[in-house]
Amino acid sequence: MNRKITFSLLVVMSIILSACATATPSATPSNNDATSVIVPTVSSNTEVSTSTPAPSSDSNASTSSNLACSGGSSSANPAMELTEGPYYKSGSPELANLYQEGMAGTKLVVSGYVYDTNCQPVANAWLDFWQANGNGVYDNNGYTLRGHQYTDANGHFELTTVVPGIYPGRTEHIHVKVQAPNGTIITSQLFFPGVSQNDSDGIYDASLLLSIQETGDGLQGQFNFVVPVQ
Ligand code: FE
Repeated sequence: MNRKITFSLLVVMSIILSACATATPSATPSNNDATSVIVPTVSSNTEVSTSTPAPSSDSNASTSSNLACSGGSSSANPAMELTEGPYYKSGSPELANLYQEGMAGTKLVVSGYVYDTNCQPVANAWLDFWQANGNGVYDNNGYTLRGHQYTDANGHFELTTVVPGIYPGRTEHIHVKVQAPNGTIITSQLFFPGVSQNDSDGIYDASLLLSIQETGDGLQGQFNFVVPVQ
């Protein structure tokens, strides 16, 4: 092989290698502003999923539709309603910090905003959270890991809790009811990305995924709700 041909081959290989390096996918940008957007209502009162599993497309991703209201001008649909399940108890304490030292489960702080359908923040919105502990067990006698709170003047809320454990038939989830002052109550659930049971849980919906980041002291999750104001 003469020098010219060898040199040409080297140039071609260098171009191919360079193109491959450029085509390597970069890391998915984190979504810190998840917002739910869809509306169908599930009226079943059981939490054990018996329906067809959710599409297995990508339970790790918060979809682009979760970004509704980030611009603050366009209208959006209220948060998706999901079954209340059998473990709701009314009369929870007004408490934003449900975490107790020594509690089973990884510490988790969930924060976000409540918006109306015109993407305006809703002050004094009621949020009632309830969930299983890190072992997948609900406190049905008392109010451990149950508490309600109200958004501040900017529509912001913050919940301190633990990552709930799974229990038969269900993936990790946090139950929530949200209501704007004088608005209708939206009953829903929040989910966690990257949980293998998401795809076999018929109640799971990717539009209700928290955006999760690790912190030095557990996990931080973000989610924005859209609710009707009347
Ligand atoms: Fe549950």
